[in-house]
Amino acid sequence: MFFHWSYLILIPGTLLTLWAQSNIKGTYRRYSQINSSLGMTGSEVARTILGKMGVNDVTVEPVAGQLTDHYDPSAKAVRLSEGIHNSSSLAAAAVAAHECGHVLQDVEDYKFMNFRAALVPAANIGSNLGPMLVMAGIFLSTMGSFSTLIMNAGIILFSGVIAFHVVTLPVEFDASRRALKIIDDLGILQGEENKGAKAVLQAAAWTYMATAFYALLQLVQLLLMSQRRR
Ligand SMILES: [Zn+2]
Repeated sequence: MFFHWSYLILIPGTLLTLWAQSNIKGTYRRYSQINSSLGMTGSEVARTILGKMGVNDVTVEPVAGQLTDHYDPSAKAVRLSEGIHNSSSLAAAAVAAHECGHVLQDVEDYKFMNFRAALVPAANIGSNLGPMLVMAGIFLSTMGSFSTLIMNAGIILFSGVIAFHVVTLPVEFDASRRALKIIDDLGILQGEENKGAKAVLQAAAWTYMATAFYALLQLVQLLLMSQRRR
């Protein structure tokens, strides 16, 4: 087993990720148990928001799993997990409205959303191939400049992963900002209920920040590991 001291710098990233995951689970569980006074289900919330915003070509449908909620721009579909779709909890309203936030980004051609979509292939390739190439470069270190070339290619590929996670942040924050404003404006949630929705979306935001932070530390780790062998 290959171990390099630089792996230790991943520890804060791991801790933040674990905290963010337990935080979203706890917050989600808590606000899943509190129903809104209006009692609209997640699917009703989504349909109401889309209707009020004049979006008629996007469907709202259930999807299996927990926290699997997403908006699929190519299928023009807001997919809500079963626990959100049929629930009239504060968490359901928050998540349904957040996905509608992504629909509005799509309608408005929000630039970070397009940028993020363009980075998906780069992120998919770079997340596995990047670290593999750096590792390969280290094991081929007797081959001099060839190994450096492989390591640099790995680091450049992995930079695409960082770009993806960094661009994800404004996209997610913006969708949540829109969501909280809409559910308040339309009176879907009343008074204190809005705080519950905010807590759920803030907990979700932390998971995205933790993921971006971890990816950034991974890049630093790859740089440190490759540096010693140059
Ligand atoms: Zn989102």
